[in-house]
Amino acid sequence: MKTIKRTVVLKASHSCNLSCVYCYDKRRQAVPSDSKSIEPSNVVKILSEKLPPSEILFCLHGGEPLLIGHNEFLELVSAIREANVKHKFRLSIQTNATLVDTGFINIFKDCKDLFEERGIGVSIDGPQFINDVTRVKASGAGASLDILEGISLLQLAGIDFGLLCVIGRHNVKYPSDVYQFLTSLSPGFIRFIPCHDVDDTGYLTRYSIAPSEFSLFLTSVFRSWLADTKTTIPVDPFVTIIGNIYGHTASWCEYESGSKCAGFLLVDHNGGVACCDNWGIEGTRSDSQSVYTMSPEKLVNLFVDPTSGSRIPQYYSTLLNTCHKCSIWQECNGGCLAVRQQFEKNNLHLAQDYCDAKKALINYIRKAIKMLGT
Ligand code: SF4
Ligand code: SF4
Repeated sequence: MKTIKRTVVLKASHSCNLSCVYCYDKRRQAVPSDSKSIEPSNVVKILSEKLPPSEILFCLHGGEPLLIGHNEFLELVSAIREANVKHKFRLSIQTNATLVDTGFINIFKDCKDLFEERGIGVSIDGPQFINDVTRVKASGAGASLDILEGISLLQLAGIDFGLLCVIGRHNVKYPSDVYQFLTSLSPGFIRFIPCHDVDDTGYLTRYSIAPSEFSLFLTSVFRSWLADTKTTIPVDPFVTIIGNIYGHTASWCEYESGSKCAGFLLVDHNGGVACCDNWGIEGTRSDSQSVYTMSPEKLVNLFVDPTSGSRIPQYYSTLLNTCHKCSIWQECNGGCLAVRQQFEKNNLHLAQDYCDAKKALINYIRKAIKMLGT
């Protein structure tokens, strides 16, 4: 059997010590919201036991994944090391960094070899006057200073980290401030992620923006990035789009043409399995069972095709049919299918805007690359 290569998003905890106004977990309903935590080390052990030799990137997610604490994190690391006699398991985390302390710094140093190249992603939305609008503590006070304290510990310890920046109503008009601030933190990478949620009546939610607004933001940042001759920081989606222009294989599902949503599995507390949580309830499986109770055979089938048993495959052909004839197919590769499906269902104007915005951005990048003659 071919080696199974997958990303497993481990929802270590649904709890979070912050209370961001556009919270990812609050705005999606794929998994029940409660305060229980899984023990990620147990999931790793059970997968190691039941799967044939596999390459799995565990992306520790939440809520806030560092809420699992030092001891459980150490258990996880040791479970991965034990599993790696048979498998090739790696680790990454997406954190708000406010719980990074000397204990975690020592753990991260000790398991540097297990971290994926872009292993630690810290979420921050820009300088304090922007970030504190959305990324707040339960009291409502902005979390910037706590986040920066965590980042500073990572920097002092020489631990690589990248920045994940959600673009929404709060920062879409500040491309220059956001770019200057993020690069000033010397991250290993920057990734911009749009907030595109719509409500059931098809309206953008309070902090959501239309794809064309995101595209204008990105175009402006792209200009700054190109003009910034000293920077070596890879900024996404630019690096991925340029890679696609040159025919490389993208690793970001939104920009790759192969497995797309079938490259992911989400494991929730109690071992329940769903697809990428951008799909919300449509990514849940009709035959949902825990990884603990599933037979090895069933688990292997699930890893071979993580979307089977969900409603996702039924959307593939309609969403991707138009893409194959599209002038930017090679660079866009269909975008995020969950976002597009959400627009198709609730707001056709936004569905059209999604493609127009992709074309505007990608054609701009194509032209700039051509002019640079690279
Ligand atoms: S729903 Fe979007 S983000 Fe999730 S796997 Fe599919 S393309 Fe990627
Ligand atoms: S722009 Fe739209 S139609 Fe073209 S490849 Fe991207 S998602 Fe598909």
